[in-house]
Amino acid sequence: MESQGNKTAQHPDAPARRLAEIRRRIAAAEARSGRSPGSTRLVAVCKTFPAGSVLDLRRAGQRHFGENRVQEAVAKAGDLSGEDIQWHLVGHLQRNKVRAAAGMFSWIHTVDSIVLARHLSTAAVANQRIIKILIQVEMTGEEGRSGVAPAQLPELLEGAGRLPGLESRGLMVLPPWLDETEEMRPYFRRLRKLAEQAEARGLLAANFDLSMGMSRDFEIAIEEGATLVRVGTALFGLRAPVSR
Ligand SMILES: *Cc1c(COP(=O)(O)O)cnc(C)c1O
Repeated sequence: MESQGNKTAQHPDAPARRLAEIRRRIAAAEARSGRSPGSTRLVAVCKTFPAGSVLDLRRAGQRHFGENRVQEAVAKAGDLSGEDIQWHLVGHLQRNKVRAAAGMFSWIHTVDSIVLARHLSTAAVANQRIIKILIQVEMTGEEGRSGVAPAQLPELLEGAGRLPGLESRGLMVLPPWLDETEEMRPYFRRLRKLAEQAEARGLLAANFDLSMGMSRDFEIAIEEGATLVRVGTALFGLRAPVSR
């Protein structure tokens, strides 16, 4: 990756230039995989970056922003309440944060249990909102990783799909960190397969969404069918290490 965090401070138009560059790479990946232009939505993951950084990109035309912690997101969204922004939760959602999350996020990428889906549904209805949800799938079988196992996916889709206040939009994957980005491709391919199987069973709409791909590998994800790419570092620069 050629971008570096400190360039943002040096050049006032750096955020806009980075955004243009990512958009160009998205369009190129769409073109070489025969996808229609504009079929990939860019979610700018702004975790750890201040509201001012979000505003820079908003002014450059970016509208979808992602956060992985509810509290940080609520504070930032409060600072940006006058802006036309759609917020995406891309991190794990704890039960005690569901109410706060339901009040601000348009998209939640990390639903991984029917219990969580039910709580979210109740909170969405109470807020008179429809929240778009994605089911996070966990493919490694390793202990301690968020997501539903592929074998349990149909049941969860069926249950979540019936809940009021939620619109079941598709699937999300966060593969383990692998040194070679090409090694991520099988995870993306498998997520698409799972979504196609769910669609064939009537558990997802034909225009389902696939949330996959980050700064390092979003082009590979687009080649494999991503409709939502979650890009942080390549847009905002390197994050300071967080100790929480
Ligand atoms: C932080 C984060 C991203 C963005 O990661 P980058 O490598 O900075 O692009 C994407 N998805 C999730 C779930 C994240 O937590």
